[in-house]
Amino acid sequence: MLSVIRSIYPSHRTASCMWSRVSQDTQIQVVRDVLTLKARYSGLRVCGSIWTCPVCAAKISERRAAELAQAITQARNLDIEVALLTVTVPHVRGESLADLLAALRKAWRSFTSGGTSGRLRRAIGLVGTIRNTEVTYGENGWHPHFHCLMFFRGKLVDLEEIQRAWGEHWQKCAVSAGLREPSTEHGLTIQPGDYAARYVSKWGLEHEMTKSMAKKSRVGGRTPFDIADDFADGKDVEKNAALWREYATAFKGQRQLYWSAGLKKLLVVEDKTDEEVLAEEEERPAELVVQLTWPEWTAIRLRHRATLLMLAEESPHLIRGWLNDRVEASYKSIPPPPEPTESASPLVLAAVEPPGQVEILPADSVSSPQRELFPLPADPPADPPADPPADPLASRLARWKARRELLYRRALGIHP
Ligand SMILES: [Zn+2]
Repeated sequence: MLSVIRSIYPSHRTASCMWSRVSQDTQIQVVRDVLTLKARYSGLRVCGSIWTCPVCAAKISERRAAELAQAITQARNLDIEVALLTVTVPHVRGESLADLLAALRKAWRSFTSGGTSGRLRRAIGLVGTIRNTEVTYGENGWHPHFHCLMFFRGKLVDLEEIQRAWGEHWQKCAVSAGLREPSTEHGLTIQPGDYAARYVSKWGLEHEMTKSMAKKSRVGGRTPFDIADDFADGKDVEKNAALWREYATAFKGQRQLYWSAGLKKLLVVEDKTDEEVLAEEEERPAELVVQLTWPEWTAIRLRHRATLLMLAEESPHLIRGWLNDRVEASYKSIPPPPEPTESASPLVLAAVEPPGQVEILPADSVSSPQRELFPLPADPPADPPADPPADPLASRLARWKARRELLYRRALGIHP
């Protein structure tokens, strides 16, 4: 998945995630967590992006989901009620995601400040909120929305009554922020505690690509990772790549969860930054599976990172031979350069547009990729298709996926 995102948006920092070493003296290793038995890389630079990186997002959101669950449990211990508030606004296809998000945030600011907001808060004894931003893409274009866990002390609160009063307030705030008027039915909804707990238990799973079956069935449009998935499947590649880039740009630098002041302290939840969470992950006890040389790493990092982790978990004894094959294949796949160039060994391959043009760079010079990278097949296809399909990018991606599958099956000895 990381390679897919890399090819969609090569200048984004997620394209450099798990690509180069932390420093020249760092060893790149595959290690296996002693508790979860999951394999992971060690010694690589990571991007830390909660929005665009399937690897970093999975690690960070696992921790955040645990914090949300802890907050709900602790609230119950303290006799604090929880409900889930959701606010949406009407939108149409073609509207800019960045503009919608900015207006939504503006509307939220006026919704949560001022006299009306104060009265509504006091009426239910609100003690704090945790707001989460989500976005999907559906028939009517981008659909950014906020989910907000509300913690309150009013035992006998009539949630339907609150929904009506707060809904009217939200409609006014959205309109004054320049948005279309939210509907009375869907603009603001409040669901009770059990629903909030269920929401939290599923929170963050959209980053888990392995759960794609569950995710496909969800109503209300595609998540950004669904969009990247569809790109990888060769569906509507230009459009999906443009959508992904728009999403990545609009969410750059945005925080994902906002805890209201004092709530973490009240619910005894530790305050850890995303960077601290990732650093802790790196320090979890693990045993070494394999240490990679730089040529081995450059031979596998574009297309085979996930395969190596699968091998480390399932068939570590095959890794050595497999790595040797990858290094050999990476040398073979370098065609002679168009003109003599001064190039240092070891070599890596950077494919550029249009296909067929190839640049040879010293290994270390591609640590920060600036151009679009597409995997080339290690061996040329035996029979070029007589009738080339209309979309070269889609067919290249399809070939790449088939090839990756084949290599993995071979490595596991499933296929001759
Ligand atoms: Zn990352």
